[in-house]
Amino acid sequence: MSATPPPALRPYLTARHDLLWDEADAFAAEYIAPCAVRMEAAPGNVERKVAELMAARGWFAITVPAAFGGLDAGHVAKTILIHRIARVSAAAAAILQATLIPVGALLHFATYKQKAEWLPQVADGSTLLTIAATEPLTGGHLGGIQTSAEHAGSEWVITGSKIHIGNSHLAGAHLVIARAAEPGVRASHALTAFMVEADRPGLSIPDHRPGLGLHGFSAGRLDLDHVRIPAENVVGDIGQGLSVAQSSSILYGRPNLAAVSLGVHEAVIDTTTARLKSRPRYQGTLSDLPVLRDRVGDMEARWRASRILAYQAVHLLDQGLPCDADLINAKYLGHQWAVQSAQDSMELHGAQALEHDYVLQRLWRDIQHTYPPAGTGEVQRIGLAASALDEDHIQWSERLAAEAAWAQPDPTAA
Ligand SMILES: Cc1cc2nc3c(=O)[nH]c(=O)nc-3n(C[C@H](O)[C@H](O)[C@H](O)COP(=O)(O)OP(=O)(O)OC[C@H]3O[C@@H](n4cnc5c(N)ncnc54)[C@H](O)[C@@H]3O)c2cc1C
Repeated sequence: MSATPPPALRPYLTARHDLLWDEADAFAAEYIAPCAVRMEAAPGNVERKVAELMAARGWFAITVPAAFGGLDAGHVAKTILIHRIARVSAAAAAILQATLIPVGALLHFATYKQKAEWLPQVADGSTLLTIAATEPLTGGHLGGIQTSAEHAGSEWVITGSKIHIGNSHLAGAHLVIARAAEPGVRASHALTAFMVEADRPGLSIPDHRPGLGLHGFSAGRLDLDHVRIPAENVVGDIGQGLSVAQSSSILYGRPNLAAVSLGVHEAVIDTTTARLKSRPRYQGTLSDLPVLRDRVGDMEARWRASRILAYQAVHLLDQGLPCDADLINAKYLGHQWAVQSAQDSMELHGAQALEHDYVLQRLWRDIQHTYPPAGTGEVQRIGLAASALDEDHIQWSERLAAEAAWAQPDPTAA
């Protein structure tokens, strides 16, 4: 497939985006590809090197405002980076995107002072972040969060456990969503977001355990045992934690995961077509057989549609237009269609797909990991049904774009 951005994306890309696309491809080929081989070979290791390489290149700064040392390049630019890196290593793309979700939360909910403290560290790559919402018992049901935060003088004391937290073992700080209210208070007002530095006493992170795929990426557990943090680490208002988690999941998590799925999907198609074109059969190759071409046609249709959904949704976001359902849909179908193509590809490869460490196995395993984060399929369909039924719900894209809080000047400046 051509490295240059395809004409189909022309409505969404500027000349700067084209440059970024080429730069990301060149960087992924030179630096990420060798790491991807190492990461696959050692699934028990958390890959720091690839995070350092992306940090040195300035990729973590992509959505950080210039006032805080960032590139301020927007959502389409972020999608380009994640998509093009995921094409070579979904695990590397996962490391990048997992930090960019809490960056989004800070942009919209943190005070100017908090942004000035945290965002330059993210932009220069010295600190990676997580957003820690999911819990062992209550899973993705945010309203059921049990991790508690109790006020003790000028501090908060946080106790509980989080699980499947992206970048758990690399992050210097975690944006933890905790219950900071008495039982009985409605979830919409019971939760609060807290920045918890990784070296706070009482925070422990069990050893990394590799999952099915995304080798090198850590999505582990945080155990918080009476972790004391100062009041200035509260992000947003007390009781705004559900909004922090939901909005960053919709505006940043969904499009990030759509971009990861898109990159994996593209690699699946490249791998499949290369195989079919090179394997001899009768007087030609497997790619000549109508029944196989028919399946490749279906894969191509799904991938092209995923690409439009992923880029159109973030383009709308960059324009400040209401697009929550488009972001949800891009994540939902982007994953679903990539999984179908990965399964087709396994079958089109015959026994070769099952050979030791054949690349397709990595793609097939990695794509399973874009289903749960930022909302499972069920969660996406709940949101899409609400949109179809015209029900009253918050349009985060509209509300937060209108506020554009991070664009406001330093209130302390003369
Ligand atoms: C690679 C990866 C990265 C992740 N990164 C993060 C992260 O950075 N931060 C974080 O907080 N979490 C993260 N997660 C966790 C992810 O958000 C959860 O896995 C997800 O919310 C689902 O929770 P669960 O796995 O416990 O499933 P469960 O909540 O146990 O759900 C199991 C099944 O039941 C369905 N279900 C549950 N409740 C309902 C309902 N009310 N209606 C309909 N269906 C329902 C679900 O859709 C799912 O199919 C990550 C997960 C993965 C795999």
